[in-house]
Amino acid sequence: NHGVGSWTARRARKTPHRAAVVHGGVQITYAQLHDRSTRLAHHLRHLGVRPGDRVAFLGPNHPSFLETFFAAGQLGAIFVPLNTRLAEPELRHCLTDSGASVLVHTPAFAPFALSCGTPRLVPVGDTLDEDLAAGTPAPLDVPVTHADTAVIMYTSGTTGRAKGAVLTHGNLIWNSLNTLVDGEFAAGDVTLLSAPLFHTAALNMTCLPTVLKGGTLVLEESFSPARTLDLVERLRVTVMFGVPAMFQQIAAEPRFAEADLSSLRMLLCGGAPVPEALIRTYQRRGLGFLQGYGMTEASPGVCLLDAEHALAKPGSAGLPHFFSDIRLVDPAGDDAPHGELLVEGPNVMSGYWNLPEETAAAFQDGWFRSGDIARTDEDGYVTLVDRAKDMIISGGENIYPAEIENLLYEHPAVGDCAVIGVRDDTWGEVPRAVVVLAPGVRASAEDILASLEGRLARYKIPKSLVFTDALPRSGAGKLLKPRIRDHFGTTS
Ligand code: AMP
Ligand code: MG
Repeated sequence: NHGVGSWTARRARKTPHRAAVVHGGVQITYAQLHDRSTRLAHHLRHLGVRPGDRVAFLGPNHPSFLETFFAAGQLGAIFVPLNTRLAEPELRHCLTDSGASVLVHTPAFAPFALSCGTPRLVPVGDTLDEDLAAGTPAPLDVPVTHADTAVIMYTSGTTGRAKGAVLTHGNLIWNSLNTLVDGEFAAGDVTLLSAPLFHTAALNMTCLPTVLKGGTLVLEESFSPARTLDLVERLRVTVMFGVPAMFQQIAAEPRFAEADLSSLRMLLCGGAPVPEALIRTYQRRGLGFLQGYGMTEASPGVCLLDAEHALAKPGSAGLPHFFSDIRLVDPAGDDAPHGELLVEGPNVMSGYWNLPEETAAAFQDGWFRSGDIARTDEDGYVTLVDRAKDMIISGGENIYPAEIENLLYEHPAVGDCAVIGVRDDTWGEVPRAVVVLAPGVRASAEDILASLEGRLARYKIPKSLVFTDALPRSGAGKLLKPRIRDHFGTTS
């Protein structure tokens, strides 16, 4: 097995007694992580899982997440992490689209699991633990190559429905290498993860490089800024990953200025640019950020800005990763100093699951089209200047307006609508709906927003809704989003 599923065995060979995972006061060594993952792999095989089959996981950051990831890897099966914040119809789409035959889930998701239609359920808990203890930790020896698929990660797109990015074992390995070359992971790291593992940056850029170096992962099921400071002090955390909104909340803690942060060596931040003021706030505590720019389709690392250049190159996304290349192209597809960023490298996905047309459209001559508009400076530093794809980033979660607009149109009172991002001190941006009422129909903003409850993840539901008489559209009927943003994006 040359895939990521072999990593627990390899780590257990080198550092069996080192702590691999710390969760809720429980510590799991690398030998134990390997033993449990192997037993779970046997259990999954007993349930019928064969190489190439999809094994989904639904739950918060928990040892079982990693055990399922590594067990699937040992079997040559494909791991499908699900976003716990999604609404049930969105989760069902990921399960049916991937064709998962097994869903591993934590207790809180039992009601959903029982109703979702996935053939086999594996509830995490005492019964599973007993089954695993009664099973075997014998090596499985399933051949897995770098070209085999390791994970399908769902990511939203401009068309609304989430698409499965198919990532191979090679993709994950090269992304880890990029991260290790350009980042500052070290043996003996204590890595705190309170950002959700189902997101590509947490799993692939933080967790996997930590495992490669034999570090310890501290898994938090939810994020609390106060507890983060306690954990950093108590466990002598060396590496932390988060989105800017999390680091903002930590800095807002009254205790931030006095907390003992001396163990911290690397703050990994990704998904959105870190505001300059926040960089300075942490600099006063002797801490710098490593800022990552990337996307699920690139496993996800594309560019990295190191702490040293954070203020010299303000707002920049940094330089391309060591093993990855970028190009900027104009709308005709020709190289340009300012244009859509394309990425190529061994970390770039093979395609979208079961979507040949979308896959073909996502690549230009083998280069993945990011949908982000960027420019580079004389030193090659990349700055993102716009998003070609109309996306909103709210607290590290990406929101595609089309998905919300599609559901808004279903409301009888909505004649026309647009969803835009507006600035928010806590989340960076939050969605706002701008609605033109259908002729002769009346409805309140509350009524219209209430119709979205349960159908969309909570973070996608607009925080405000404003009415207008007409929305500007192009000759071709396309919403003129920049004009709508200018007009409705600042008033409250
Ligand atoms: P996702 O689909 O969740 O993988 O998100 C990928 C998108 O998030 C990218 O195409 C960018 O638009 C955005 N993004 C990721 N990292 C950054 C960053 N450091 N700065 C600005 N935007 C980012
Ligand atoms: Mg995406």
